[in-house]
Amino acid sequence: RMEVGKLHTGCEEFDELMGGGIETQSITEMYGEFGSGKTQIAHQLAVNTQLPKEMGGLDGSVIIIDTENTFRPERIEQMVAGLSQKFEQDFDPAEFLKNIHVARAYNSNHQILLVDAAMEMANKLKNTDKPVRLVIVDSLTAHFRAEYVGRGTLADRQQKLNKHLHDLQRFGDLNNASVIVTNQVMSKPDAFFGDPTRPIGGHILGHTATFRLYIRKSKGDKRIVKLVDSPCLPDGEAVACITTDGLCD
Ligand code: ATP
Ligand code: MG
Repeated sequence: RMEVGKLHTGCEEFDELMGGGIETQSITEMYGEFGSGKTQIAHQLAVNTQLPKEMGGLDGSVIIIDTENTFRPERIEQMVAGLSQKFEQDFDPAEFLKNIHVARAYNSNHQILLVDAAMEMANKLKNTDKPVRLVIVDSLTAHFRAEYVGRGTLADRQQKLNKHLHDLQRFGDLNNASVIVTNQVMSKPDAFFGDPTRPIGGHILGHTATFRLYIRKSKGDKRIVKLVDSPCLPDGEAVACITTDGLCD
């Protein structure tokens, strides 16, 4: 087993909450309402992963499985500009964009297949100076939610999601990579998805997602990040800010 890496988020409290950062060889699930900041944090992690280890990165490249067409290159550029300020260095946004490989997933089956494609790409990059160290699935659940509607389809949906998560866990293990998945929850209790403070398919993800983060909006650009039911860390909360420059204290 390779040594577990810790990816810095850009927010110290958030890193501390996670025991030093987002771990490699684990799945970290971010769940929360629309607009809570899941995609923003994912963009920030796609940038930070590329930093050298001394700067809190994993010195690696990134694969994003984008199911909602919410990847924004301009946002990456803004965040890289933010890092250039923070570290007083001239980071090249084009370099960062080059090391983020985005694949659109058109439906849940395609989404599952893209993990195989990700594995192929990771194998190709394995012995380069930028091996894949982060895979993001944003959103993990949107296609599943749209396609599997109604009670009769629930078992099938769970089985598919389970397989998908196991593939992702394997990807993380084999590549010493972090795995980030997002999961939208409703503000109001929903007959299908249940308690809003629990992730969709709580029990399904429960077996696999090692870290679960509940993200919610607070005043202004503040976000509350809550660590829920971690097997190895105390439950707790951190305050993070989402600004034009990216995630910060
Ligand atoms: P969904 O469940 O709908 O996918 P989400 O949790 O992914 O939602 P995000 O898209 O990450 O939500 O968050 C959107 C919010 O991020 C915006 O409402 C705004 O507050 C903030 N945001 C987006 N872009 C910027 C920016 N350039 N500068 C500052 N804040 C921004
Ligand atoms: Mg989003």
